[in-house]
Amino acid sequence: MKYVSTRGTAPELKFEEAMLTGLARDGGLYVPETVPTMSHDEIAALAGQSYEDVAFTVMRPFIGAEFPDGQLKSCIRHAYEGFGHSVRAPMVQLGPNHFLLELFHGPTLAFKDFAMQLIGQLFQGALERRGEKVTIVGATSGDTGSAAIEAFRGLDNVDVFILFPDGRVSEVQRRQMTTPSEGNVHALAVEGDFDDCQAKLKDMFNDFEFRDEVRLAGVNSINWARVLAQVVYYFTSAVALGAPHREVSFTVPTGNFGDIFAGYIARAMGLPIRDLVIATNQNDILHRTLETGAYTKAGVTPSISPSMDIQVSSNFERVLFDAYGRDGAVVAEQMADLASGGFTISQGAIDFLRGQFKSGRASEDETMATIKTTYDTTGEVICPHTAVGVKVANEHLSEVPMVTLATAHPAKFPAAVKDACGRDAALPPRMSDLFEREERVTKVPNDLVALETLIRSKRRA
Ligand SMILES: *Cc1c(COP(=O)(O)O)cnc(C)c1O
Repeated sequence: MKYVSTRGTAPELKFEEAMLTGLARDGGLYVPETVPTMSHDEIAALAGQSYEDVAFTVMRPFIGAEFPDGQLKSCIRHAYEGFGHSVRAPMVQLGPNHFLLELFHGPTLAFKDFAMQLIGQLFQGALERRGEKVTIVGATSGDTGSAAIEAFRGLDNVDVFILFPDGRVSEVQRRQMTTPSEGNVHALAVEGDFDDCQAKLKDMFNDFEFRDEVRLAGVNSINWARVLAQVVYYFTSAVALGAPHREVSFTVPTGNFGDIFAGYIARAMGLPIRDLVIATNQNDILHRTLETGAYTKAGVTPSISPSMDIQVSSNFERVLFDAYGRDGAVVAEQMADLASGGFTISQGAIDFLRGQFKSGRASEDETMATIKTTYDTTGEVICPHTAVGVKVANEHLSEVPMVTLATAHPAKFPAAVKDACGRDAALPPRMSDLFEREERVTKVPNDLVALETLIRSKRRA
């Protein structure tokens, strides 16, 4: 299996190289050259299998011979053993034909654990075999950073530095980043906002001397291995509801387009998905793009679903590449236009996108109201991101079962949940001592030299 860049000029890479590289050298994102498909019978055979067994079958064709079967199986087993539910991604029912896929039973209580836990194992396996070490630096508005620290803590070949905006993440999110005690993970509180953290990260990748010296690696959602890990739960849930013998629809609370792009890949592999519905909060650039055909940046307005507060949705580039018949030059042109505000999608490409996706948005009031109604009618307490999904899913119900992705545990966003439905969302027992654990955090100025000096001095040689 080869991986090609969405901008058409970076070298083709194997799975492992694409994973360790992250962003392609031409600024594009890696995608598989062709998507392997599964037959009706192969999908039917997944019924009743464990999450781990389905994960192996679904991901195996995408992953090169660098990872032999035995090693891949062991990476998958270790990745999910810390989850608080033996099913890993269980479902509950919200209405006659509406199901909630709970993706928050991992160690940091958000769906990002599914991918991050696995790539922690895959990175360690690849680096040990190659005799290499890397320094992972990431920027986070909350969930990605905690998932990365949790996934890489204690690994020998990896040092991890997470930049988060000081004072602007929830207390649960901060404590998940600052309480792990392993010496290879470092939470850095940057004097600035999330955009400052992202800008400094980019500057580090562009400082080639620094980049090569510390062997910088990235694990944000442009990393193909993260998308791949998320394809699996589309299969487990659809098969549980009768696929491939009947169709299933999905609604996905969306920010950076990684999670819903995984659903698009599942469909391309042959899973009979009827509707793939993009659900956005008030930062509705993806919904507007599908409606108008123009991708136009507007300012970000902070919301109660902060993990979806973005205006540049990185993984959208991957689907745009397909919409333009895999013409990397056109994608590169559109991305250059994005830097100066936005771009207009061609008629052919927008027709393709409208054929693949539906969309909807939820305002802040609608999100709050959905938390309350869901609690009143089902007793389920849902997080604000999930509520955005449930609101939009309700507008797309049909005779086909609808699965809404529950992307985080309500206890990660206790204030919004309490405001909406009057309930305290309790942390699961396995992390009920989170507020007693000792915190370890380094405050850093919003300054490239200071950050690089700190990383050089703290990383293990
Ligand atoms: C990251 C995140 C999202 C958005 O997922 P994307 O893959 O970026 O679209 C939604 N909800 C929660 C809780 C998240 O952490």
